[in-house]
Amino acid sequence: MTNRLHNFSAGPCTLPLEVLEEAQAEFVDYQGAGMSLIEMSHRGKHFDDVANEAMAMSMEVFQVPDDFAVLFLQGGALLQFSMVPMNLLTAGKKGAYVNSGTWANGAITDGKEYGDVYTAWDGADNNYTRMPSTDEIKLQDNTRYLHITTNETIGGIRYAEWPDVEVPIVADMSSEYMARPLPWDKFDIVYGGAQKNLGPAGMAIVFIRKSILENCNQNMGRYLRYDIQESKGSMFNTPPVFPIYMYGKVLKWMKAQGGLSAIEKMAADKADLVYGAIDGSDGYYNCPVEKASRSHMNVVFRLPTEDLEQKFITEAGSAGLLNLKGHRSVGGCRASIYNALPKHSVETLTEFMADFRGNNQA
Ligand SMILES: *Cc1c(COP(=O)(O)O)cnc(C)c1O
Repeated sequence: MTNRLHNFSAGPCTLPLEVLEEAQAEFVDYQGAGMSLIEMSHRGKHFDDVANEAMAMSMEVFQVPDDFAVLFLQGGALLQFSMVPMNLLTAGKKGAYVNSGTWANGAITDGKEYGDVYTAWDGADNNYTRMPSTDEIKLQDNTRYLHITTNETIGGIRYAEWPDVEVPIVADMSSEYMARPLPWDKFDIVYGGAQKNLGPAGMAIVFIRKSILENCNQNMGRYLRYDIQESKGSMFNTPPVFPIYMYGKVLKWMKAQGGLSAIEKMAADKADLVYGAIDGSDGYYNCPVEKASRSHMNVVFRLPTEDLEQKFITEAGSAGLLNLKGHRSVGGCRASIYNALPKHSVETLTEFMADFRGNNQA
């Protein structure tokens, strides 16, 4: 029997137990090859099959149209903060950004190093507790793309509705990656780090519209060019072999769960349980986020005092409920309830919340 605790980490995060066990079983001697997958050539047949299947499953599970390519890149989501403007901001073009919180702000900071980048909406006025509506997003002439962060991992907000804008959208979807379907016609690039919802750390998964590749900048190191990465099938250099392998297994697991629509529903159900526990607590627990923008992946909440928050986190840890501390920049509590976190873990949390409240009235 394995001793698996309830892991509410914001990332790297819980992965499906079935996937971990399968990887363990085939780790030392991969399919009779006499060596593990991470010891063999990335240009050999075994890894070729793994990579091709991961690419095919990416398109299938996420319901991606044919005019997109999927890239497996290193450098996490953070390198995409630079690669997007480096590639897309050709002469005279501007990048518009929604500043919805910590991660969006990071994308803006990096974008400014490479081009004419401006903030089309800023959530600072409401302390980043909601996403904007389309009419609040102010686009300027010659805007190449609107960059959004579909789910702010630290603030716990997401877009309930996608912006309806005239320019292509570029989306950082790291913390709700493949947890909901996308209207692909609105997007030119969708990217995210694997480790929030889809696999181990060490790779970004990037979907890019193929028709834009010929209009990207080329004046940069070759690794950084989307056109080269696409033409080489993400094998320009040694790819992140282990993350690709694990990610492929997670996608198969997602498919077996019923695919994207089933995953989306499971996420909504789990989120409802935690928000229900918060809303039904007579104000003992409090979620600072506006209801329409509540994340289905990262549920942030406060207790009546910081002392009680500390006690909550400590006692939850003793009860096997781990990583419920909010991000150090905002404090409070946060339950990250990604795709692979079992519903049972969420139920255990909500029971703990009710008990804790009963025992610790302010
Ligand atoms: C975690 C996170 C990132 C950073 O991802 P890395 O893969 O660590 O670079 C960027 N954006 C969002 C929304 C995140 O949640």
